[in-house]
Amino acid sequence: MELRLNNLKSPGAEPQANAEKKVEKVLVLGAGPAGMSAALYAARAELNPLVLIGTELGGQASLTFTIENYPGFPDGVGGAELGELFKKQAERFGARFEYEMATEVDFSRRPFVVKTYGKEILAETVIVTTGASPNHLNIPGENLLVGRGVSYCATCDGWFFKEKKLAVVGGGDSALEEALFLTRYASSVTIIHRRDELRAGAILQRRAKENPKINFIWNAVVEEILGENGVQGLKLREVITGAETTFAADGVFIFVGHTPNTQIFKGQLDMDEKGYIKTDLTMTTNIPGVYAAGEVMDSHYRQVVTSAGMGAAAAIQAGRFLEEHSLEPAAVEK
Ligand code: NAP
Repeated sequence: MELRLNNLKSPGAEPQANAEKKVEKVLVLGAGPAGMSAALYAARAELNPLVLIGTELGGQASLTFTIENYPGFPDGVGGAELGELFKKQAERFGARFEYEMATEVDFSRRPFVVKTYGKEILAETVIVTTGASPNHLNIPGENLLVGRGVSYCATCDGWFFKEKKLAVVGGGDSALEEALFLTRYASSVTIIHRRDELRAGAILQRRAKENPKINFIWNAVVEEILGENGVQGLKLREVITGAETTFAADGVFIFVGHTPNTQIFKGQLDMDEKGYIKTDLTMTTNIPGVYAAGEVMDSHYRQVVTSAGMGAAAAIQAGRFLEEHSLEPAAVEK
C-alpha cells in the first residue's frame, strides 16, 4: 500500500495541496556504498526505498580499479563491479533506482520535499549519501587542461598515457594507489608531495617505494600546469627554499583530498566547518527523519566497508523512525 499524504500524522504538512501525491517511505540520495547498503536494508525491511543515483552508480568506489579491502572478496573486486552487485542485491528485495540528481531539498516540514531537474518527490524519511568530490588545486592551467592531460581519476584516464611521463600530486592513499595503477601504462610516475612524509598507509607506501617506475619529489607544490592544448609540464616551488623549477610531464593526476557534496543541504542540515554533515551515533542529522551516511558525513575513515556499515545503520534508524511516526509500522532488520 502506498503512503499518501492525507494518511500521515506529520505536523505542519499541507494535505490539501498535495492530497494525491505519493509519499516515499525512504528516499536515498546517492548510490555509493552507503546509499546502496541503506537501500538494501530499507528494502529488506519492506520499505520499498527509492534511490536517486546522482552522478555515479557505485560512487567514487566505482572508479577504483580493484578494491582489495572489502570483506568477502579475498582476490579483490572491481569498483564498478561491486557497484553493480550492490544494486542487484538491493533490487532483489524491492529497492528502486532512478538516474536522477537531487537539486533542492526542503526539510522544514514532513513529508520532506526533494526536487530533481525533472520532478518533486515527497518522502517520510531521507538518507543522504551524496558522498564527496575530488578537490582541485585551483592553479593556473588546471581548468584549461582538464581532459587534456589533467585528470582526477587514474582508472578513467590512465589508458590514454601509454609510455608517457606522468606526475601525481598528493601524498595520501589515493595518490599512491592511483600512482601504482598508472604504472601499468606510463613510462614513469613522479609523485609530488608538499611534505617529506607521506600520509598514505604503510602497505601502499612500501609498494610505491619499491616500484621501479615511481619517483618522488618531496617538499614541493605545483604552482602552474603548463601547456596550451595538452599538458607539457608543471611549474613547481620548493617549499623550504622557495626555489622554482619546471618539471616536464605529459599528464598530471591530482589527488589532494575531497569536499563533501553538501551544497544543497546548507542552512538545513548542521555541518562542520568543512561542510561534512553532522550526525549522532545513529546517523541522525539535526532533523529527525533525515539521516546521513558515508563520505558526506565521514572525513575520517572513508572506506567502502565503513560507508556501507553507516548506510545500513541509517536505514535501520529510518525504519525505527517510521515505526514511531507513520501509520504503517514496518519491520526493521535488527
Ligand atoms: P587525504 O588522505 O586527505 O590526502 C590528501 C593528500 O593531498 C595529502 O597528502 C595532502 O598533503 C595533500 N594535499 C592536500 N591539499 C593539497 C594541496 N593544496 N596541494 C598539495 N597537496 C595537497 O585524501 P585521500 O588520499 O583522497 O584519502 C582520503 C581518505 O580515503 C583517507 O582516509 C584514505 O585513507 C582513504 N582511502 C583509502 C584507500 C585504501 O584504503 N586503499 C584508498 C584511497 C583512499 P598533507 O599530507 O601534507 O596533508
